[in-house]
Amino acid sequence: KKKIAVMTSGGDAPGMNAAVRAVARYAIHRGCDAFAVYEGYEGLVQGGDMIRQLAWGDVRGWLAEGGTLIGTARCMAFRERAGRLRAAKNLITAGVDSLIVCGGDGSLTGADLFRSDWPGLVQELEDTKAITTEQSNLYRNLTIVGLVGSIDNDMSSTDVTIGAFSSLHRICEAVDSISSTAISHSRAFVVEVMGRHCGWLAVLAALATGADFVFVPERPAQVGKWQDEMCNALSAFRKEGKRKSIIIVAEGAIDSELNHISAEDIKKLLSERVHLDTRVTTLGHVQRGGIPCAYDRMLATLQGVDAVDAVLASTPETPSPMIAINGNKINRKPLMEAVKLTHKVADAIEKKDFASAMDLRDPEFAD
Ligand code: ADP
Repeated sequence: KKKIAVMTSGGDAPGMNAAVRAVARYAIHRGCDAFAVYEGYEGLVQGGDMIRQLAWGDVRGWLAEGGTLIGTARCMAFRERAGRLRAAKNLITAGVDSLIVCGGDGSLTGADLFRSDWPGLVQELEDTKAITTEQSNLYRNLTIVGLVGSIDNDMSSTDVTIGAFSSLHRICEAVDSISSTAISHSRAFVVEVMGRHCGWLAVLAALATGADFVFVPERPAQVGKWQDEMCNALSAFRKEGKRKSIIIVAEGAIDSELNHISAEDIKKLLSERVHLDTRVTTLGHVQRGGIPCAYDRMLATLQGVDAVDAVLASTPETPSPMIAINGNKINRKPLMEAVKLTHKVADAIEKKDFASAMDLRDPEFAD
């Protein structure tokens, strides 16, 4: 009988509760015991009351809840081996042999590291008599499965991450509200959205709201050119009778020399050169909050179910899987390869290798 714990870690994302619900209920359905680790890796390191068994009814109503009800945290202790040693002892004490982690690339890196450390950690716990020989024999291996929860949609090897469409939806609603007031006053609005290395939210929001211009990290604005391009485009739209101008800028937007392009820079330009009454709106944490959209509830549920199936199918030899979705099919990908590709994208952007950054993010669509 597998004892499967689920946890959420890193930045919260709408749909995480739906994932926890799916894991708990499907695990119980498959005859396993389900547990929740509260407060991310912090709870794992603290142990005790932070690791609790979940009953079917404990996750009732969780599909439609935003954020993560089992909590999340950033945890420095888990980055050190000593912290992971305590975490291993706590999991074994709670009787857990499998861990499903829903988080971003940082959380999933930590999870995989924990798994590769595991045999050594168990040996050390046995040697120091922190656990019995019987426990040590029972818990030789730790099964890890990753679910990607991130509003930025910034993980390689999967088309969509849990939370991204809810966040996109929220941004669209905010831009719609801004549009009404922009039209009334004939104003321009520069809307800053989240995405440090990933412009997915910005591009999709621009598409879905019919924005006039968009700035993202992956396709940097050409130094010496973008100012004219943007000002000319916006002037032309105004001459055609448009009463509002919407510019979407990702928080990590850059120009081709890697200088950050801020919403204030754009505002200044539009005010001075196009003489538009321009305002800046930074959406901030509104983008993370609120109920998950239907797509995220569905994605989290299907992926949560597959995560449990992946636990049941795992062997000590197979690499930890990450549950992905590719071309509308739930898929398992090697977790560390996906994380490595994700880091390569950020590195490529830092090295100005933008073409590689785009190909790496979506290897299957690379030319
Ligand atoms: P995200 O999962 O959203 O990318 P973080 O990068 O903040 O968020 O990671 C969340 C937590 O995962 C960290 O607070 C830390 O406890 C753990 N973590 C991240 N990277 C590592 C790592 N390289 N080794 C061990 N633990 C890590």
